[in-house]
Amino acid sequence: MTHWFCPYCVLSWLYPISKCPHCFGVVLNRDDKQITQVASVTTNIPSRFHSEVPYSISLFQNSYGDSWFEKICRNEEQSLQESGVFAEHVRNDFSSVVGTLFDHLRISFSAPTILIIPEVGRGDKQGKGAPHLGTAVHPSLVAGLVSYFQETYPDLSLCLGALNEVLLQHCVSLYSAVCPGCVFSVIPEKVSSDLFLIAVPVVHFVQESVVLCEDFSELLSRAAHFVVVVDCVIGDANGKPGFWNRVVGGQRWSEIVDYFSQFRGSDSLLSFHATTVEH
Ligand SMILES: [Zn+2]
Repeated sequence: MTHWFCPYCVLSWLYPISKCPHCFGVVLNRDDKQITQVASVTTNIPSRFHSEVPYSISLFQNSYGDSWFEKICRNEEQSLQESGVFAEHVRNDFSSVVGTLFDHLRISFSAPTILIIPEVGRGDKQGKGAPHLGTAVHPSLVAGLVSYFQETYPDLSLCLGALNEVLLQHCVSLYSAVCPGCVFSVIPEKVSSDLFLIAVPVVHFVQESVVLCEDFSELLSRAAHFVVVVDCVIGDANGKPGFWNRVVGGQRWSEIVDYFSQFRGSDSLLSFHATTVEH
């Protein structure tokens, strides 16, 4: 996790800040080197906004002395460990969230070209999604992925892709401003093994369950290397935007589908909300 700190006042923040409000000095940032769990308490009694029990609240501290709380739901912890699917709460820095996700998944990106495929529309292939409505991937997540690869794998070439020309035009209009230096192209029918696909579907609640874009399932079955990063920053909750502020990643489409299938039934939206890690 990244912290922002004032070198003069020894104050630190969990969110980006350019100037220290105390001394007006320039604030710097640093990544945690070593994180220690200082304390943890488990709660078995549900309350408003915390309906899923048991959950634990842990106090963490890094080697610089910065400390923070994290809420972890037991169900989420168990299902994640069993399935190889990981959920990361987005704090402020999308690039480090994506980095943490890939660290958990232990992926090494070896193919020479990274092809990021954000979901930009649904259904009839003409439907144009909007990030603020949860029907297209949030530009900050695309920007975070791009800056992660530019910083961590500067030798790999980066490309943004879409399934057809219409979706590609919409993809360019949504993300060209946040992806300097990226090439945009339609995904070829035959996916070469030189491509590492980063499939980025958006979470959609349709009535009482999560539905993921099936186009990805078909596409990934043709790919040699891929990872799925599901955008749950703003998702589509029965036609309205739902704010969950997290990303979910995995390397098997079926495991991702299984992970979301636990949110099914009349309280699925509520229970999905409850598994969000809060700070
Ligand atoms: Zn200061």
